[in-house]
Amino acid sequence: MTCDFCNPQVITSQKVYEDDLIIAIYPQKPTIFHHLILFPKKHYQLISEISPEESVRMNQVIEKIHLSFKVKNNCIGYNLTSNNGGLKIGQTVPHCHSHLFLRFDDEVISPFKVMNDPSLKIVLTTDEWESRKKIISTVINKK
Ligand SMILES: [Zn+2]
Repeated sequence: MTCDFCNPQVITSQKVYEDDLIIAIYPQKPTIFHHLILFPKKHYQLISEISPEESVRMNQVIEKIHLSFKVKNNCIGYNLTSNNGGLKIGQTVPHCHSHLFLRFDDEVISPFKVMNDPSLKIVLTTDEWESRKKIISTVINKK
């Protein structure tokens, strides 16, 4: 089975958060600066299949990430989206996941503007990507 989110080689380089149930990664091609992808460690295709424990934890992790950025960077809220049902409806990885877009008062562009017009998406160099990932990981994992 080829599932990117079950592949440690894919995950390790992108990971910004991990606990016993949930992983959060910084996507290779983020839609906006503060775009994260969260998913359960265990493989399920659909969000409706995850256990109550995983579901609760997922919400706790989302809130933890939101609060980290609220305190440190004035995050005013977030959008959470999830595609469930395969390629036709936009689920490109067959492992259930949610896209978390942290939103800021002074943000340059909204994720929905970029989704509607992919030419607005900023192409990052490897160094820029690494630097953004590090910033995000540092904020989330600060004790
Ligand atoms: Zn998987």
